[in-house]
Amino acid sequence: MEYLPIFINLRQKKCLVVGGGSVALRKINLLLKAQTKIECIALDFCDDLIALSKSNDIDLVTKHFEPEDIQNHSVIISATNDKSLNIQVSKMAHESRIPVNVVDSPDLSSFIMPSIVDRSPVVIAVSSAGRAPVLARIIRAKLETIIPSAYGELAEMAGQFREKVKQRFNNIKDRRQFWEGIFSGVIAEKVFSGRSKEAKKELERRLANTTEESLGEVYLVGAGPGDPDLLTFKALRLMQQADVVLYDRLVSKSVMELVRRDAELIYVGKKSGESSHQVEINKLMVDLANSGQRVCRLKGGDPFIFGRGGEEIETLSDNGIPFQVVPGITAASGCSAYAGIPLTHRDYSQSCRFVTAHLKDGTSNLPWEEFVAEQQTIVFYMALTSANHVCQQLIDHGMRVDMPVALIERGTTPEQRVYTATLSGFPDLINNKEIHAPTLLIVGEVVNLREKLGWYGD
Ligand code: SAH
Repeated sequence: MEYLPIFINLRQKKCLVVGGGSVALRKINLLLKAQTKIECIALDFCDDLIALSKSNDIDLVTKHFEPEDIQNHSVIISATNDKSLNIQVSKMAHESRIPVNVVDSPDLSSFIMPSIVDRSPVVIAVSSAGRAPVLARIIRAKLETIIPSAYGELAEMAGQFREKVKQRFNNIKDRRQFWEGIFSGVIAEKVFSGRSKEAKKELERRLANTTEESLGEVYLVGAGPGDPDLLTFKALRLMQQADVVLYDRLVSKSVMELVRRDAELIYVGKKSGESSHQVEINKLMVDLANSGQRVCRLKGGDPFIFGRGGEEIETLSDNGIPFQVVPGITAASGCSAYAGIPLTHRDYSQSCRFVTAHLKDGTSNLPWEEFVAEQQTIVFYMALTSANHVCQQLIDHGMRVDMPVALIERGTTPEQRVYTATLSGFPDLINNKEIHAPTLLIVGEVVNLREKLGWYGD
């Protein structure tokens, strides 16, 4: 190891920054986070730095750097583009044994600044000893994606209970087990979903209890339209920590690949309209959670858009099961983006509707006359079997027959196909074609933009 990673407390300590440009500004922002007092010496200061100095503990001093300027500083950063000045600052600092960092010059520095992931009080520092700063930044970005932003809050809470937990468990092993349960279970999830008060109460309760009772919960997670890269960080995290995963046909195989390897997978695929089956799914979730399991209910797209998510969590709520809902990219967003069809456009469409084309008992009670107005986009979900019927209804209610229409099959996946036609030409378009579910129908002038904006697939 070439450098020893240490975290240094600089609160209220004087730090010197030489240079007044954007690089100096970046370092100053970091020093401010560590609550230092800053003296910044330069001949010129950038506007943002001047603005920042007005509301922070920053002393801007307009002058040439002189050797005695380094005195009484705990740390020095040289951020100028004047090589000889940087060398001079470095030399003075080394002579006085004050830690110095010359930006982008590890050879002139006595310490280097790592890439950091800041979840204060948790801070992760990554360094490549100056060999590959870009690599360190990439590693940092990876860490950013897997560490929930509320980890800081969780650590703060843990800090408040640290002494109590110490008193409660003499044995270090018991203590560790207790904290492991807190950091990777229901309590942590409560903090992540904005319910810190409840989390604290639960922690108090566990501390008071001698017997550990296991508490299950349900995550209703939007799995997006198919491309696994469209999952949210939160979706991925919960998929990776669930004990049981309930999924159906709409969740793509490549998304399922990302579920925790040893989680139990339960297929609850159903034919549309089978409401009794829905009742069984709701009950299954309640039973699993009651047995102490962390249940991830994966839903295609967004759980609250034609996903019956509302019904599923109503049952959970009735049974007092803790749950959280993770939004996903809905088919309309995913498919329109991957088909190059913006859902709104200043020139062609000022509003957009998501409509189910699923017809109850073969009839539809949709407000067709509202759909035929110009300057809007209508997205029909569940449109495969009824696509011809939908187009005919639109024509019957007065939509112009040359209105462009797109049918998107298996959007956002490598199998994506996009078929476009006019309203009247639509039946011919899909005739004799083998089209696979799921498909989405988009009606509106914006469909024409695909010719120019299509970017995904062939
Ligand atoms: N909750 C889901 C929608 C469930 S209804 C969401 O927010 O996306 C199921 C319908 O969604 C399908 O019939 C189809 O119209 C649409 N759909 C879902 N994924 C799709 C995909 N990858 N490509 C095209 N349509 C899709």
